[in-house]
Amino acid sequence: ASFLGGVEPSPPDPILGVSVAFRACDDPNKLNLGVGAYRTEELQPYVLEVVREAERRMIAAGHDKEYLPMQGLAEFCGATAELLLGKGHPAIAEKRVATIQSLSGTGSLRVGAAFIAKFLPGKAVYLPSPTWGNHKNILADSGVEWREYAYYDASTVGLDLAGFLKSIDDAQEGSIFMLHGCAHNPTGVDPTLAEWRQIADAMQKKNHVAFFDVAYQGFASGSLVEDAAAPRLFAEMGMEFFCAQSYSKNLGLYAERIGALNAVLNDATAATNTLSQMNRIARAMYSNPPVHGARIAATVINDPELFQARSRWNDEMGTMAGRIKTVRRELFEELTRLNPDKDWSFVTRQIGMFSFTGLSPAQVERMTGTHKIFMTKDGRISLAGLSSAKVKYLANAIDDSFR
Ligand code: PLP
Repeated sequence: ASFLGGVEPSPPDPILGVSVAFRACDDPNKLNLGVGAYRTEELQPYVLEVVREAERRMIAAGHDKEYLPMQGLAEFCGATAELLLGKGHPAIAEKRVATIQSLSGTGSLRVGAAFIAKFLPGKAVYLPSPTWGNHKNILADSGVEWREYAYYDASTVGLDLAGFLKSIDDAQEGSIFMLHGCAHNPTGVDPTLAEWRQIADAMQKKNHVAFFDVAYQGFASGSLVEDAAAPRLFAEMGMEFFCAQSYSKNLGLYAERIGALNAVLNDATAATNTLSQMNRIARAMYSNPPVHGARIAATVINDPELFQARSRWNDEMGTMAGRIKTVRRELFEELTRLNPDKDWSFVTRQIGMFSFTGLSPAQVERMTGTHKIFMTKDGRISLAGLSSAKVKYLANAIDDSFR
């Protein structure tokens, strides 16, 4: 008998559990479209050339392995805020941005949630319906109440803008809204810039605060600038917000756990004080963040040749985003060929790594059971895990499972 004998097993994670099931399957045709990680046409993981180059430079520089400060690497914090808002943005120049390097997107969201629990007690955070499943875990484990706002319209496989605006209007004044900065996960459905303006206006009227989750900057459009349009719009409108950033996808640094939490504020003293409290939260949670990924990201962002427009990073981003767009188009064409009576245009309208197929849980069961295509129960597929060579196989399986 153990003193922990009463501990029940945790249910498998709905996303990470898919990879576990995939590894256990020995069918040669199996396809893992569960986790959002980029794969090459050969379905292999990809390490960006700019990352290899940064690492070569880091080894040549012979850095030590001393602790970073609680805030993280200073060069990284400066670079990441610039990547979000744009170089020379007034909020940065006026020191109104509090930025802490944290453990990728998840850890940054977690520090933000702990900050809300501590300094904005009783405030609920509104999440889009549906959202990335881990948002709920992160808020719940931080003791922050979450609710949902209307986001996705299943009948159009598009944005429910009217419902979204109504949720904003119905929420108590000064609530927090988690907004996917770009490439909404799991739906792949993003507001247009005009729709973002309406959303920002409605939020401003109600004094709501945005908490942007930017996990795919560069992955939606292939442009780091275009994909930051929503948070930049809020900044331009003088709205204060939080923003979590991740370098898992756009630099392919999944395992390095590199990201940041920013608070973009209207006052420099508030930013200084907020940063000191974020540091205090990090101190008790993990003390200080790892240095390797921060050096890579700072090297790439701060080097003109590796970073600037038409730079090597942009080219590689364009290649990754472009490959996903290509398989999207091929999947759309193949599905239309198989069943011309169904409107498949949602596949090409959605952006980012994912496509929300509208497959029901029973149909997903058929996708996995019969066709050995591993995906999350909500009907989401990661197109980053699809190759052109596998498009026909996937389209057949989707068509069959819908029938
Ligand atoms: N937020 C969203 C919406 C995501 O899809 C992900 C990753 O899948 C993350 C945050 C965090 O990822 P990471 O912790 O690897 O940066």
